[in-house]
Amino acid sequence: MLDGQPVTTASAAGWFFIGFDRDAPASSEIRVDTPEGPLLRRLDILPGDFDVQRIGGLPQDQVSPSDPVLLERIGREAALKAAALESRLDAEGFTAGFEMPLDSWRLSARFGGQRILNGEAKRPHYGADLAAPAGSVIRAPCEGLVTLAEPAMHFEGGLTMIDHGQGLTSFYLHQSRLDVAVGQQVVRGQAIGAVGMTGRATGPHLCWRLKWRDRNLDPTLLSGFRVPGLG
Ligand SMILES: [Zn+2]
Repeated sequence: MLDGQPVTTASAAGWFFIGFDRDAPASSEIRVDTPEGPLLRRLDILPGDFDVQRIGGLPQDQVSPSDPVLLERIGREAALKAAALESRLDAEGFTAGFEMPLDSWRLSARFGGQRILNGEAKRPHYGADLAAPAGSVIRAPCEGLVTLAEPAMHFEGGLTMIDHGQGLTSFYLHQSRLDVAVGQQVVRGQAIGAVGMTGRATGPHLCWRLKWRDRNLDPTLLSGFRVPGLG
């Protein structure tokens, strides 16, 4: 239970995952119901530091689309993503931590920045943008199940989603090439696609996103993380 809401059931080995997003409250309570009774822990959450990201010169249909045919397509693509996010793989590969998905990169836009696109205030940037040459290999940062692999979404371009278990799903946007298909199991380090600039992108980069259930997390915070005691 997180702040009184039931959110997840631990794996058979007792592992579960909880995430806090950009606008999380300053304090949260986790309650774990065990056969021996409930365990409570209150967590204090420090405020993050988020920048403002101004991007101009985007085609208007990438900022405020109004064409009914395009809006219908965007709606259909949103439904595909929502369906993929319903996946609840019973897995705990996340306990081994995440690697970065590229061998080399430059962080070109941080997670959580307030976005101003063509002068319009938009939703915060819920990804980490990793700039790299087009064609650079993207690797699965952790084992999981491919739940979506679409080569040409309107905003995301070539998009792959991977379920890592416990409601934790990672996203890989703007790919020039997809190397995996829906239903495929991937292992850590496996090539899943290539960096591109398809969809809403002004240059070749990987927009790497991570969701825990409906919350957007900063994926770079998981890279290099190891669960204490598991090595
Ligand atoms: Zn991005």
